[in-house]
Amino acid sequence: MEFDESVIVKRIDNLKLITAAEPEHFMTLHCLQCNTVLADSLGVCGELKCIDSIMCIRVTNDVVVSDAIESVHKGEMANCICSHLKCRLCNCVMGKVIHAAPSHLAAIRSIFLLNKARMSCYILDSISMVKASSLSFDMKPLQETVHEARQELEEHLDLMALTCSRLADMSLSSQSST
Ligand SMILES: [Zn+2]
Repeated sequence: MEFDESVIVKRIDNLKLITAAEPEHFMTLHCLQCNTVLADSLGVCGELKCIDSIMCIRVTNDVVVSDAIESVHKGEMANCICSHLKCRLCNCVMGKVIHAAPSHLAAIRSIFLLNKARMSCYILDSISMVKASSLSFDMKPLQETVHEARQELEEHLDLMALTCSRLADMSLSSQSST
C-alpha cells in the first residue's frame, strides 16, 4: 500500500501555525544528563512533534549509533526500521536514526532524531542553558528543509573536490617544472 506524501507536509504546516518563534540564534545541543555536546543548531532541520524529537542532519562524534537494528510496529513510526542513538559519555539513549521508512515518512530517512526531553540547549547570544523542551524547533516544511540542507552539503563537497583537484594540479605542475 502506498502512503500519500502530502500527509507529512500537511502535518508540518499545521505545526508551523502554532509555532511561536524560529530559533535564529546559534545554539549547541547537549545531553541533559552529562552535558556532552551532541549537535548544534546548524545541523538542525526541524522537529517531529509526534515523537517529541529534534531532527538533525548532522550530529557530533559523541552520538553513538547502536548496532542493534529494530523495527517499529506501532505508533507514528510504525513500519520504520531504526537504531537507537546513545550519548558516548553517559550511555543514555538519546533518540533514534531511521534507516528505512514508509513513503509518507521518506523525509526522515537517515535523519537523526534526538529526544527533546533528554536534551538541553546552550544559546550562545544569551549565554544561557535551557531545556530543549522549552524551545520550538519548527522550521520550514520538512521536505524543503532536508532538501536544502542536502543541497548545501553537496555544494560544500563539490567545492572541496574542486579545491582538492586544484591543489593536485598545482603540485603536479610544480613537480613537472622542477
Ligand atoms: Zn550523556
